[in-house]
Amino acid sequence: MEKVILCRYGEIHLKGANRGYFEHALLNNIKQVLKDYKLTIKRVAGRYEVSEFGEEQTEEIVQKLKKVFGLHSLSVASKFKTCEEAILNICSTIKLSEKTFKVEVRRADKRFPIKSMEMAGLCGEQILNNNKNIRVDVHNPEVVVKIDIREDGNTYLSFLDILCAGGMPVGTAGKGLLLLSGGIDSPVAGYFLAKRGMTVHGLHFHSYPYTSLQAKDKVIRLAKIMNDYCLNMKLHILSFTKVQEEINKNCNRDYMIILMRRIMMRVAEKLSQKIGANAIITGESLAQVASQTIESITATNSVVKMPVFRPLIGFDKLDTIKIAKDINTYETSIEPYEDCCTIFLPKNPVTRPQIEKVLEEEAKLDIEALVKDCLESDEVINI
Ligand code: ATP
Ligand code: MG
Repeated sequence: MEKVILCRYGEIHLKGANRGYFEHALLNNIKQVLKDYKLTIKRVAGRYEVSEFGEEQTEEIVQKLKKVFGLHSLSVASKFKTCEEAILNICSTIKLSEKTFKVEVRRADKRFPIKSMEMAGLCGEQILNNNKNIRVDVHNPEVVVKIDIREDGNTYLSFLDILCAGGMPVGTAGKGLLLLSGGIDSPVAGYFLAKRGMTVHGLHFHSYPYTSLQAKDKVIRLAKIMNDYCLNMKLHILSFTKVQEEINKNCNRDYMIILMRRIMMRVAEKLSQKIGANAIITGESLAQVASQTIESITATNSVVKMPVFRPLIGFDKLDTIKIAKDINTYETSIEPYEDCCTIFLPKNPVTRPQIEKVLEEEAKLDIEALVKDCLESDEVINI
């Protein structure tokens, strides 16, 4: 008998002729997250089977697989050569802590002489004999013992399906450049696009020495957490100091934020072109702060031509926080280091910027030179 992990995919099943492409990408991603383990990965009958790993590593491997986008669910199973006696023997050793159970037998191998229902009854008897305080409940059992008798001569026995992250394999839906602050929202935004198969790279603006080196380090640590899902992330760290100083010196401070954001977008578009990204991603959510009113978003959006994805646009902060906790970025995001958006902050930022006023303020800056300078400060970190 051998312990294996069965991995099932979800939405890829809906793909037609190019399904092979998605399956291949998913397999590569699985191999990548498990590259440090000695094990075997095979595609067996529309799913992946991980085997020949050290049994003490099972939990660790399961945790890694749960984060691979494209996988729908997995289960840890015992695999053995199909034989009635072997199945009943194994059932007779099962110890359950639950109060109710049922046995589900799937008999794909019609050479196996006993029908599914009858076999389930026989297996159930064995389990009842060995577990005194348990009963069968076919409608609402606490645990399901699944016995899968496959056509290839193997039987798999497992207890529970563990839900995985779902989505599509990273690397199958283009590349996005995520504006990654140190806050709660942007890591969640990146997570959602990676979930749809996008390769996500990060762009962080820092304003050293106005912002600290710890603030920069925090963003690198956030990217590392995200990389469990995003795989092969690259983080571009650019200096925004000069931009902020110039705006501060030359422009009406009430327009600080909108001016900054329009420059951030221009820089993001240029960097996207350089690295072959097809979209910009932000963590904006409608009406959350002054820079996220519809008027502000319109004014920032209008400086770029490429698509800007804002997956959190309709999210309440509490919804986002819940996901940030689930994906493990929350605790890092709430560390109290300043972001460049919080320095030089005006008392009364405009919430409904008029485009003519914005252009008037921008005329006081050499935007092109600022964008170029900013891009030249690019420091790339392979996460
Ligand atoms: P977050 O929690 O992601 O910081 P927020 O609610 O604090 O978002 P803002 O500070 O207005 O909102 O930022 C809106 C979006 O702009 C962020 O989600 C992020 O995508 C981008 N952004 C903000 N600051 C930076 C930065 N220093 N570097 C890169 N992108 C940034
Ligand atoms: Mg922020």
